[in-house]
Amino acid sequence: MKSYGRKLLRKKLNEIRTLSKYIAGESTNRAAQRSKVKPSEVLKLNANENLFIPKEKVIMFLKEVIEEVDPRLYPQEEELEVKETLSKYLGVSAECIMVGNGSDPLIALITQLFLERNEDALSVAPTFALYKLLADLQGAKYFGVPLKNDFSLDLEKILANVTSKTRMFFLCSPNNPTANQFEVEKVQALIEEFPGVVIIDEAYVEFADYSTVRLVEKNENQIVVRTFSKAFSLAGLRFGYLVSNPELVTILSEKVQLPYPVNSITLKMGLKLLKNVEIVNKAVEQMKKERRRIIKVLNNINGIRVFDSQANFILFQSNKGSDEVFRELLAQGVLIRNLGKVPRLDRCLRVTIGLPEMNDKFLAAIERVFEG
Ligand code: PMP
Repeated sequence: MKSYGRKLLRKKLNEIRTLSKYIAGESTNRAAQRSKVKPSEVLKLNANENLFIPKEKVIMFLKEVIEEVDPRLYPQEEELEVKETLSKYLGVSAECIMVGNGSDPLIALITQLFLERNEDALSVAPTFALYKLLADLQGAKYFGVPLKNDFSLDLEKILANVTSKTRMFFLCSPNNPTANQFEVEKVQALIEEFPGVVIIDEAYVEFADYSTVRLVEKNENQIVVRTFSKAFSLAGLRFGYLVSNPELVTILSEKVQLPYPVNSITLKMGLKLLKNVEIVNKAVEQMKKERRRIIKVLNNINGIRVFDSQANFILFQSNKGSDEVFRELLAQGVLIRNLGKVPRLDRCLRVTIGLPEMNDKFLAAIERVFEG
């Protein structure tokens, strides 16, 4: 009995070992070792963090929050209050909202509930790498339906790939790493036609033209997942939420998620930013101004093709190998994301939009790479 059990344990570990892992952007310390600059001088433009809300402001809120919370108590009231406030911010009922420790854990929770071994999940390609990893972990089959050449949604091909085993669709809107949003009519048609659950990952939506969050009231199979890591500048505090119909939200939060998923400090910080949302909106506008500027400058560099962006990052394609561009930027202390190995993103790189002075340095460095 015991040796049979141990054999199964080994088999499971071996099976999981073969799965690919999530590769986060390189840390500044590692990057510094590979370049000629000190860690404090590395320009970190590889994780789509948002520095447009001043650190002093965030720290000021944090100090206020420290005075307000009682860490001896479970974060019950804070969770209810943040859901009420989010409900007003989004224009949906509070019953449609569930909070999480970042948006990734919420996407994982939905996948655990709706996707079983030998079932199928679909998404587009290229897209956020996490979806495939989560499907793999369930022992499910994942297929990323290629986007069209202009990165638009190929609805016909998507629906042609639906089988009797298809349970989930992951749609990233705006899409990481291509940075575009898909036509809203096509997204609505996808939700209507798709037999299973459609997760719309709106991590970057505040930087874009539209959100599908209000559609959840008419689509029983739609779940929107959003985060405070991007527009709200709270990546380090880990706060995300999902929006769906009340039935699904009740089941997910009462039966699937563990109690008190988000700590009281994070919840209160979320609340502070929602109550001072003009700060967030201003930061978004400043980022958009920088986005326009960077796209314009990159467009004028010989050897670079820039794609339009609805997010706080920009995808571009180089006429040189992406490894070379990445390395030459890193040698100058500029850390971006090399996507050259991603299928269909040959010679592509992704850069996060930083503060104006950071972008000046990035643009000067990339101009040097493409000089002559
Ligand atoms: N979705 C997408 C598309 C992302 O790019 C990211 C961040 N890399 C996340 C979700 C994760 O966000 P969070 O910090 O809320 O877990």
